[in-house]
Amino acid sequence: MRLVIFGPQGAGKGTQAARISEKFGISAISTGEIFRWAIKGKTALGNEVLEYVSAGKLVPDELTIRVVSERIAADDCAEGFLLDGFPRNTAQAEALDDLLSDVECGLDAALVIEVPEEVALRRLTGRRVCPDCGRNYHVDAPPENNWTCDACGGHVVARDDDVDEAALKQRLATYHEQTEPLHEYYEAKGLLRQVDGTGTPDEVFTRIVEALG
Ligand code: ADP
Ligand code: ZN
Repeated sequence: MRLVIFGPQGAGKGTQAARISEKFGISAISTGEIFRWAIKGKTALGNEVLEYVSAGKLVPDELTIRVVSERIAADDCAEGFLLDGFPRNTAQAEALDDLLSDVECGLDAALVIEVPEEVALRRLTGRRVCPDCGRNYHVDAPPENNWTCDACGGHVVARDDDVDEAALKQRLATYHEQTEPLHEYYEAKGLLRQVDGTGTPDEVFTRIVEALG
């Protein structure tokens, strides 16, 4: 199964991506996470993307597309994948179609998670993440033990771009301008599956499974 998932910041994509990956046995690939790890590890890629990510701007398409094309060519993607945070604009969606036409298997579905803006903002300000394994938490749903990651023992913190108000506003504006048009793009291909992202993570996940049914 080959899926993409998108939705505004705070819609709960990362949380749901982890669940989808587990249930369907496909690798979840988050471009945002790839970039954050590269920045943390001070790799060449990290140096290249730092200025964009910290300002809440999109990393240039050419670079992002190259990263994704290499990643989905890896062995663990042979049976499928879930792309979280890619594509984020029409040019990236077209590039993905081209990449998949090479392997003769297209996308099965494009999931979009939708939440009212005030819900998204409330979730974002309380969002916390494990920098070591990428697991998401919230101040209302913290790890069991004093901000120590349940999965890997890492120290759970707020994301730099979530606490930077200018960067956050920029990400939301970019979403409206560049990512929202993907609705029409995937609708026209009959791939769009819209899911209500309000409620608990379990409730949202149940809707996703139904939508993919
Ligand atoms: P969010 O959806 O909450 O903004 P992500 O983790 O998906 O968080 O992305 C974090 C940052 O990584 C983005 O603000 C952007 O700078 C960069 N990024 C992630 N995915 C892409 C992409 N497909 N194209 C360009 N930049 C991206
Ligand atoms: Zn962790």
